Amino acid sequence: MTDGEIVLLAWNDYVGLMRCRGVPLNQIEARMEFGLGWAVAGQAQTPFAQLAPNPWGPMLEVRQVPVPSTKTRIDIWDDAPPFHFYLCDSKTNDGKNWECCTRGFFKNALELFHQETGLEFLAAFEHEFTLLDDPVAAAPSFTIEAIRNVARYTQDLTKALTQANVGLETVEPEFGVNQYEVTSAPAVGLEAAERAIITREVIRETARRLGYRATFTPKASPDAIGNGAHVHFSFLDSKGNNATYDATQPNNASVVAQHFIAGVTRHMRAICAITSPSPVSYLRLGPNHWSCGYSSFGVQNREAALRICPSPDQNPAKAAKAYNLELRAPDATASPYLVLGALVLAGLQGIKEKLPLPKSVDVDPNDLSEQQRSELGIEPLPSSLAEALDLMEADAIVKAWMPPTMYESYVAVKRTEIELAKDLSDEALCERYARVY
Ligand code: GLU
Ligand code: MG
Repeated sequence: MTDGEIVLLAWNDYVGLMRCRGVPLNQIEARMEFGLGWAVAGQAQTPFAQLAPNPWGPMLEVRQVPVPSTKTRIDIWDDAPPFHFYLCDSKTNDGKNWECCTRGFFKNALELFHQETGLEFLAAFEHEFTLLDDPVAAAPSFTIEAIRNVARYTQDLTKALTQANVGLETVEPEFGVNQYEVTSAPAVGLEAAERAIITREVIRETARRLGYRATFTPKASPDAIGNGAHVHFSFLDSKGNNATYDATQPNNASVVAQHFIAGVTRHMRAICAITSPSPVSYLRLGPNHWSCGYSSFGVQNREAALRICPSPDQNPAKAAKAYNLELRAPDATASPYLVLGALVLAGLQGIKEKLPLPKSVDVDPNDLSEQQRSELGIEPLPSSLAEALDLMEADAIVKAWMPPTMYESYVAVKRTEIELAKDLSDEALCERYARVY
């Protein structure tokens, strides 16, 4: 059924939500060059239909300009028109990138990284989510029952994600009640964030069509297993080799990867304001949940905020190709553009300063004494969004990554979000975020 098809021009904002405008199918060609106008005050939206204080008046507008390569059109439903959209760049009227565009933030970070290192950045997200309003009773963790209970859903999802061309790799049950996980192959540069954004929207849409709701909220209820959005990443040199890997170095981490790890570890606490950016994020983040609670680095260690994922392959060339790093703090209330931008910039800082590889930790850092942690240079991650914002404010390097207007408006949105959530019980907080994310 293509009757009545609309095409959405969509962008991912500070709070990681897709906002959009739509045109009928026969109008899209005419909109490809300059897109549609949008009042920038909308960038001050919290997740809860309330604007944060912002510097933008009623006049100021940007163009939301569709990026042709992001075209997504999924046509698998008999009872609904295709799900058709483009991701957009936010541009000023003179065609420049708008300084507060989240996509532009990551684009700039990639350019700086490439200028400094000559390398490309390759990444993939793991998407954990919970199916709500699922009529089928919960099944035990990781079981065939858990996935076959929703076989119709996973069938539609697999079809839809295949049409979306996001490099789908796995669709599986997770540990939590009605919790599932989807992963994609890594992609270079901007496409890594685009795949994540598209994948989440398709997961939501497929659920919607069947009368479920898929939520990526970090915690669907206070005692639920958390939903993470871990990021796997590596670097490619100009010959397409994995520049993160060097068999002659400690933990097989190349020199550039060692500096990168050091930069990320050093700025980890401050970047939580970007990677774990909601009040509800801090019900997930913490030790003993495999979501990570300390600014630690380890090999294989799922309690480390940043870990090396070695390959099980005994073939050296294949092992080198598969070798990657994983950042575990992020959740899906964060914009993938901002998460990857912050990750790249934190690592880049380590490269510029040639910071030494931190000591790797092979136990749960929570089991170490405070003195042992301090000897290893491990600190607890923030325990609230307010603390994370204070840490970002105190980290002059992180603070300088965003242009001042972007930084100030981002922080204003996040502070307003804290205000809006401050009187909610944990239950109410989880419920509220589950409805939005
Ligand atoms: N659900 C965990 C989290 O919140 C991650 C579990 C896993 O390692 O897949 O990050
Ligand atoms: Mg998982």
